[in-house]
Amino acid sequence: MNRLRFLASFLIALTTTALAQTNTTIALKAARMFDGKAKALVTNAVVIIQGDKIVDAGSGIAIPQGAQVIDLGEATLSPGFIDAHTHLTDDFTDFNKRRIQELQLNVSELALNSVPRARATLDAGFTTVRDVGSRATNSHDCMDVALRNAINRGIVPGPRMLVATHGIGATGGHFDPMSGFRDFLFGREPDWTDGIADGPDEIRKAVRQEVKNGADVIKAAVSGGVLSMADEVDTPQFTPPEIAALIDESHRLRKKVAVHCHGDQAGHDAIMAGVDSIEHGSFLKPETLTLMKSKGTFLTPTLMASEYIMGKISAYPPVLQAKAKAAYDARSEMFRNAVRIGVKISFGTDSGVFPHGQNAKEFKLMADLGLAPIECLRAATANAADLLGRAAQIGTLEKGKLADIIAIAGDPTQDITTTERVSFVMKDGKIFRNGGAPTPVASASSRTAEQPTAADF
Ligand SMILES: [Zn+2]
Repeated sequence: MNRLRFLASFLIALTTTALAQTNTTIALKAARMFDGKAKALVTNAVVIIQGDKIVDAGSGIAIPQGAQVIDLGEATLSPGFIDAHTHLTDDFTDFNKRRIQELQLNVSELALNSVPRARATLDAGFTTVRDVGSRATNSHDCMDVALRNAINRGIVPGPRMLVATHGIGATGGHFDPMSGFRDFLFGREPDWTDGIADGPDEIRKAVRQEVKNGADVIKAAVSGGVLSMADEVDTPQFTPPEIAALIDESHRLRKKVAVHCHGDQAGHDAIMAGVDSIEHGSFLKPETLTLMKSKGTFLTPTLMASEYIMGKISAYPPVLQAKAKAAYDARSEMFRNAVRIGVKISFGTDSGVFPHGQNAKEFKLMADLGLAPIECLRAATANAADLLGRAAQIGTLEKGKLADIIAIAGDPTQDITTTERVSFVMKDGKIFRNGGAPTPVASASSRTAEQPTAADF
């Protein structure tokens, strides 16, 4: 059978399976359940699914006659995890290699490379991601929009995506793709059409352009970052009037704003202007965290990013090593303070800085810094759904919600690392995994070439 015929029969089989599931009532049973809301796990858990929706969920619920019963045994049912900070179209786990390859590969190849990353993320139990920044050098193609749409149409298995297209940033700032290259090396310097904008009017235009191109959420860099060559990690990169324009224009267009921000001054300015989430937040002081608490601003900690970088620090250019160490040294105290003060925390990892599919390792990092296991679970379900503006559809197991349901092999309140062992994944009522090993992410890393740009930590 040639490849095309194989692909065609595979797609038909996939469609048939999906259709067969549409009208079937499914009853999931397991020893325990985290419903996304309660302060404790429920035992003797049952969730009833019809089509793509949950019709009932609770302890010992009667199973309708004729339902297909799937007994997951000693597992814990949970709403599908949500990662509020991913880069599925990117892989900068080898920073130097990526700097060259992003200039060599065409955009179609870069986009196709993200397919196994999407599958690995879904297999790990992440049924929704907010993908916050995607670009290829000197290209306006929106790979994240293409991947989101392909997943929505069932062409590619992956998590539901909310995408940001280009990150918006200042000239020479963290998102400037020419940062660290010789001036005008590529014949032009990036402008607002690439998300690189200076002054309130250009920033408004950049926001409008991104919404035109399909952005669900707006991402901007208001402070310097670690994985960029020409900026300090914590300096403010937009003025307060620029930040105000960014957030006002985004909110007018009903888009939420996530800002990459390590520095305290930039964080303060963004929170005052009404930003929806601070991403990273490494150097935020207690007074700034208290301001976040009072304004209801979410923190997306991305502890996995600095954890991974520090694990192979010598592989990064010296200028980045110094920035990474400074951010890492600051972030643990910042996170403990955020927990103590009661800042709203949304789970987010910065996957792409580390290998895709390892997102759940963030849970243990948060727990080790003082967040109770049940709150860690809430951060990745109800809280993240709230931040994404999708709390009416996802984030809890209750009647009327989309059937995004996973099974964790064990009790995550006793051992948080069980979140790294998801054994069952359902998204929109369709089963993508039931036992077996996750699709190995090695299939992605063994290819000869990877990655676009958008260093974003
Ligand atoms: Zn990022």
